[in-house]
Amino acid sequence: MRVFCVANQKGGVGKTTTAVNLAAGLAQIGQRVLLIDLDPQGNATMGSGIDKRALDPSVYDVLLESATVAEARHRSVKGGYDVLGANRELAGAEVELVGLERRNERLRGALKAAQADHDFVLIDCPPSLSLLTLNGLCSAHGVIVPMQCEYFALEGLSDLVNTIRQVHAKLNRDLKLIGLLRVMFDPRITLQNQVSDQLKAHFGDKVFQTVIPRNVRLAEAPSYGQAGVVFDPASKGALAYVEFAREMVARLGQPAP
Ligand code: ADP
Ligand code: MG
Repeated sequence: MRVFCVANQKGGVGKTTTAVNLAAGLAQIGQRVLLIDLDPQGNATMGSGIDKRALDPSVYDVLLESATVAEARHRSVKGGYDVLGANRELAGAEVELVGLERRNERLRGALKAAQADHDFVLIDCPPSLSLLTLNGLCSAHGVIVPMQCEYFALEGLSDLVNTIRQVHAKLNRDLKLIGLLRVMFDPRITLQNQVSDQLKAHFGDKVFQTVIPRNVRLAEAPSYGQAGVVFDPASKGALAYVEFAREMVARLGQPAP
């Protein structure tokens, strides 16, 4: 089992879209996937066709150790993957965890028991470097960072890279930055090409080869409770995410440098 956080402390950068579509893309190529929604907004949950108002138990109960992953996960039937869902209740966990021991390692512990059930675990993180995100980072082998190629994108990146470095040093020696994923990309915009070139110059092969284009079908899919990959498999966005799933599998197959 390999565990990845989809993280970026900025909101609206494509984290949830990436988590949901990578989950569905990996499922399509035969991987057993668990998608964990760590954002109280519950967008990954709803976008997988699971009603966030009807979750009981949810990832909240897993963090507070009143349910196991196996008890709390739901099946996204269309997506072909499992979901540990979230809703507003999860915002309370943030406060409740503060006073508890092993507060950073709740999710990590819970996932150990589900190790044999999944090839990939993807964690959709909230747009903050909170205790919830920390639980994600402490559980993971790697971080996937979706980003738009905009002027300020590089600035925000250094905070995230520092956080990953600190968690690696103090809490989780397994953690590393797997890669930066360019999303909502529009090749007609000169600035986006420039930022993309800067990214490659600065981060080298930490920049995924796959580029996710701006594609309205990806934005429409969540209102049908489906990943874009399932909703319109022939759309450019869907094809790009399946390609990204293949790139992830290929990368992991390679021996460490
Ligand atoms: P985050 O989880 O980082 O807040 P989302 O995945 O929810 O970001 O994306 C923010 C908005 O952008 C959503 O409305 C989503 O549908 C839209 N979006 C994300 N990726 C794309 C894309 N490649 N093309 C078009 N719209 C996108
Ligand atoms: Mg989100």
